Amino acid sequence: MPLPDGINLVMDKVSHLHQITVDHLRKYDPLVLTISVFGGTLVYLKVSRIYSRSEQPLLKRLRAYAFAQARKLPFVQRKIAKEMAPAKADILKSIHKDDNDRVFIAELPKKGKTPVEVQQLATQYDAYGRFDVSEGKVSGTVYTDRADEHLEMLAKIYHDYAYSNPLHADVFPGVRKMEAEVIRIVLNLYHAPAGSSGSLTTGGTESIIMACFAYRNLAQARGIESPVILCATTAHAAFDKAAHLCGMRIRHVPVDANCRLDVKAMKRMITNDVCVLVGSSPNYPTGTIDPIKEISELGLKHNIPVHVDACLGGFLVPFMEEAGYGIDLFDFRLPGVTSISCDTHKYGCTPKGSSIVMYRTQELHHHQFFTVPEWSGGIYATPTIAGSRAGANAAVAWATLLYLGKDEYVRRCREIIKSTRVIAQGMKKIAGIKLMGSSDVSVVAFTSDQFNIYAVGDLLHKKGYNLNTLQNPQAIHVCLTYNHANEKAVNAFLADVREAAATVSQSPDKGKGSATAALYGMAAQVPDMSLVEEMTFAYLDACYAEPPKQ
Ligand SMILES: *Cc1c(COP(=O)(O)O)cnc(C)c1O
Repeated sequence: MPLPDGINLVMDKVSHLHQITVDHLRKYDPLVLTISVFGGTLVYLKVSRIYSRSEQPLLKRLRAYAFAQARKLPFVQRKIAKEMAPAKADILKSIHKDDNDRVFIAELPKKGKTPVEVQQLATQYDAYGRFDVSEGKVSGTVYTDRADEHLEMLAKIYHDYAYSNPLHADVFPGVRKMEAEVIRIVLNLYHAPAGSSGSLTTGGTESIIMACFAYRNLAQARGIESPVILCATTAHAAFDKAAHLCGMRIRHVPVDANCRLDVKAMKRMITNDVCVLVGSSPNYPTGTIDPIKEISELGLKHNIPVHVDACLGGFLVPFMEEAGYGIDLFDFRLPGVTSISCDTHKYGCTPKGSSIVMYRTQELHHHQFFTVPEWSGGIYATPTIAGSRAGANAAVAWATLLYLGKDEYVRRCREIIKSTRVIAQGMKKIAGIKLMGSSDVSVVAFTSDQFNIYAVGDLLHKKGYNLNTLQNPQAIHVCLTYNHANEKAVNAFLADVREAAATVSQSPDKGKGSATAALYGMAAQVPDMSLVEEMTFAYLDACYAEPPKQ
């Protein structure tokens, strides 16, 4: 069969080019040639590995690489260290500002203290905290009112289960059962079908890491070498952490004007190596629920698993319907949803250290398990990241769920959603304030076109509030807990925001000079993110440091 003319022509050209190349190469020493081919291959492999490892634009990565190389020069290092030193000292000072005693126990006491002495110290440390959680001045963080009856019950439960460890199910059969019951209760809240399964983890981050780990393993079993997590720009940073830990790539889908994942964009961003589609119900920054139904359909159509991150709203969204607030389906009733993360230690009101990761099938759950069948210490198997697990965490979670019960969760949900909507409505009437997202559940995020919103946050901070800073774009949010769910806290909050907004809008620089505005402004201006990273490390170092001399 004769080849079409076009192809002949091209083949002609190719062989001609090949000849030129060969003639050209003859001029070189074979050794030089071999070395450069070998070196070139290495460079190619390195570049292609850098390219396939991350989803960041190539230019950005090359720039970061160039900065990282430049930073290795000794004189650059000295200059940066010199400039950073005062900032680091500031961070250290600020971390320890509430530690008035400046006594730091760095050595094991030779002789043990009495329980009374230990208790005294603990009470003293507890008094360092300045924020009034019960008055509703702290965003998120503590989700319950910490009623005495509840805490006294937990203290007794902790007493009995302090040393239990579900890793040894034979030694602690009771705590194993508690874990299994908590998981099954939450699976049922999310309408999981028969055959579903899940694990109790230490928190939302671990739940998300476990789900991503399972999908990575599933993808690799299906022959995808470098799996990609596809989630919104508003998805929790735990997905980035999961990608980092599991050696996966993560691709961020843009959100629409309402801060909701753009499903059309998600569809366009699907490639053969996407191993999970993520939707949040709701997301952390603005409390907006992503279009879970559409994501579920997309997952079914492309045969890609779908994870719903309900960490934040885990113990609100299942109760909204009964509390009288309409909500679209977000759970296992959507056939494409294959896993869900739900934090008990947020609105489930359990002490910190528990969250649930759920799977539609046991088979999916198996992809998160880890075993070393030939270990010299015996056949080893764990379901989550931990080896030994704090049985007391499971016990206090179990006790809290049973103690509060469904009616109380529904009642709290109703109060929290009601208060959130009153705040959102009230904020719309404050001059200069612009809401972000749709506050579908318990978060109200806000910004301003007229002044720097961070200055409002700083003024509220001075008034004893602890709100959360958002960026890209700049905004702040309040995440309402049961402590905010009353008229007094709601009215006080609205009045304080109104006053702060008025002050900032009347200031000559419109808040540009506020501390947070300056910090985030600076961070946005340094092209080298590794410098911002270094400051965050200074913060983390400071958290572990002994107090500086006063
Ligand atoms: C809090 C949160 C997480 C992470 O949970 P941690 O318990 O802090 O690890 C994940 N997703 C969302 C939406 C959250 O709000």
